Amino acid sequence: MTMVSNLTDLTLAEARDGLVARRFSAAELVEAHVAAVEAGRSLNAFITETPERARAGAIESDRRIAAGEARPLEGLPLAIKDLFCTEGVRTTAGSHILDGFQPQYESTVTANLWRAGAVMLGKVNLDEFAMGSSNMTSYHGAVENPWRRRGDNRPLTPGGSSGGSAAAVAGRMALGATGTDTGGSIRQPAAFCGIVGIKPTYGRCSRWGIVAFASSLDQAGPMARTVRDAAILLREMAGHDPKDSTSVNLPVPDFEQALDQGVKGLRIGIPKEYRVAGTPPEIEALWQQGIQWLKDAGAEPVEISLPHARFALPTYYIIAPAEASSNLARYDGVRFGLRVPGQTLDEMYENTRAAGFGAEVKRRVLIGTYVLSAGYYDAYYLKAQRVRARIVEDFRTAFETVDAILTPATPSAAFGLDDKMDDPIAMYLNDVFTVTANLAGLPGLSVPGGLSADGLPLGLQVLGRAFDEATVLRVGRAIERAADFTAKPAMTGGAT
Ligand code: GLN
Repeated sequence: MTMVSNLTDLTLAEARDGLVARRFSAAELVEAHVAAVEAGRSLNAFITETPERARAGAIESDRRIAAGEARPLEGLPLAIKDLFCTEGVRTTAGSHILDGFQPQYESTVTANLWRAGAVMLGKVNLDEFAMGSSNMTSYHGAVENPWRRRGDNRPLTPGGSSGGSAAAVAGRMALGATGTDTGGSIRQPAAFCGIVGIKPTYGRCSRWGIVAFASSLDQAGPMARTVRDAAILLREMAGHDPKDSTSVNLPVPDFEQALDQGVKGLRIGIPKEYRVAGTPPEIEALWQQGIQWLKDAGAEPVEISLPHARFALPTYYIIAPAEASSNLARYDGVRFGLRVPGQTLDEMYENTRAAGFGAEVKRRVLIGTYVLSAGYYDAYYLKAQRVRARIVEDFRTAFETVDAILTPATPSAAFGLDDKMDDPIAMYLNDVFTVTANLAGLPGLSVPGGLSADGLPLGLQVLGRAFDEATVLRVGRAIERAADFTAKPAMTGGAT
């Protein structure tokens, strides 16, 4: 019998196999994780804990395992980003304005996970409405990264916006988590916390029941400790949903099966425009190391050009706020959550939004309404749409000659909790390597590649063709194997 205290150190695949082999029960697995969630509370990863739900799920899972009816994710405890609507369980989007919101319905992605047998440990923290790169904009407070710099105990950001998801998984409080990625919110926190995250192709996962940020960019995806675990979760999360007209009706491959095919003969694009001035030498060195690993595994690196990549960040920070300003108009004090009364209807709207939205969300709404306003629409929004089309075109051309693209995931390792909060542009620069994939709708994966000089995780990013997550995961697996990333964070909810 495995010691219960070790159960939180298993990968999701190991836990799955251990349950089916009856080495431990789903109840034991859930208890170990519920205890880890409690022990890890100082990191503030969870907004809402749902241990009773997890326990109830485990009872059903143990029954099914005993009957030989285990489903693909039977009994596996997960953390859910608090942007996914969960029926009867408070959903906050990290905002004050959704106070008291208890959805009457379940998001399609989470419904898919529960149908596959997974159990929910709780809802995890995030930047308000997923706007941010540090989790600092959450109304529910900052999340701490389980990692510390070597010899330095100051708390660091887990990244964002899926900061709670990344901290929960890295901190051994959950076997995996859901995230969403509009401009990098799965990949950047995964990189900062030393875990794996994949943003699938736009349309691969249903957006139904996920609180909207920027509808043409938002995608859900898994965050986990290994590429295999991410592949297992993605298969269950993905799929066509008639309730989301942008979800695509294509078969979902068995991503796990694809993993061990290796990368021999694959052509890996190295975009020269990603060599941006000011990138720290250790990020550049990691990238070169990644290229060498793939070469050693039989792939062929090819220099490519993505000439419009340098316009991706400004383009993103026009389109994302524009869509956000429209999506967030629904929070008016009438239909959801918080209401702050006023003398007139307009005053009630104003009071509710003034009290309910945080500073970053207000900034996005203002930028969004500005770039969409008569007189500026052509100069900003329309121009941004045109540049977006060029970026899509760049990738289309590149993928005529390469099978995947390798870049760094982030321009730095995790930074201090309050760093960059006084400088929105510095914060936005976190997304310089990730936003292109959202603008082009392409799949992107972040995988740990090594440690920075002061002992923090650094990630590599793999981009792929639309609906070719299988190749992205294969390349990620090859990097994971070569990197042999076994370092563990300083603070974990489980036994260390
Ligand atoms: N950091 C980016 C932003 O603030 C991306 C966020 C996300 O992907 N949700 O918009």
